[in-house]
Amino acid sequence: LDFQALKQLVRDCENIVFFGGAGTSTESGIPDFRSAEGLYSTASGEKFPPEMVLSRDFFVKRPEEFYRFYTSRMLYPDARPNAAHQALAALEREGRLKAVITQNIDGLHQMAGSRCVLELHGSVHRNRCTRCQAEYPLSTIVEAGGDVPYCPECGRMIKPDVVLYQESLDQGVLRRAEPYIEQAEMLIVAGTSLTVHPAAGLVHFYEGDKMILINKGSTPMDGLANYLIQDSVAKVLAALTADE
Ligand SMILES: [Zn+2]
Repeated sequence: LDFQALKQLVRDCENIVFFGGAGTSTESGIPDFRSAEGLYSTASGEKFPPEMVLSRDFFVKRPEEFYRFYTSRMLYPDARPNAAHQALAALEREGRLKAVITQNIDGLHQMAGSRCVLELHGSVHRNRCTRCQAEYPLSTIVEAGGDVPYCPECGRMIKPDVVLYQESLDQGVLRRAEPYIEQAEMLIVAGTSLTVHPAAGLVHFYEGDKMILINKGSTPMDGLANYLIQDSVAKVLAALTADE
């Protein structure tokens, strides 16, 4: 099957579901921290892997270090949607894309105009007081400048609504995602190494024969794909949905 034929297949499809990860946002300048090498040095000179800093325990015990890392490495308030986000939003407007299921926390799908977005790992745009549950936008965290943000209402610490290590995924979101994948005619899986569970297990709910897997490197689930494209997500999605 050549690219033109695959393009036609996408064009003829009325029930597409997208499942994406970090690779969807790399062209927006947001690095995949899981593939980033190295250790994080704290103010006191200690070194920790990012997976430890972004854990529930670390957040509770060392919120100052957590926020120093989180604010400088996880937040990209100036990032804008790229061709991948735009292509998916256009497919949804045409009524052919039913849902975007994402492991990303950057909110770029919504910024591009996507409406049905299921965020498995939460969003940097939602932040909640750990005591009174008051909600705060990303700007509240950014304005704290890397310091711990406190709730102006009650003085308690604010926590980003993102899923940390040691925390489980939002079961409600997971449960909503499953039927979309199960009923999809075409599943586009993109920019994810498919190694993070249980999110990666979602792929197994797909029952069709039009799974397109787009990722720069190989994944443990390459064998499940009906069409495998090892390239940039933004480039491939833009080309797959282009008019000409
Ligand atoms: Zn509060």
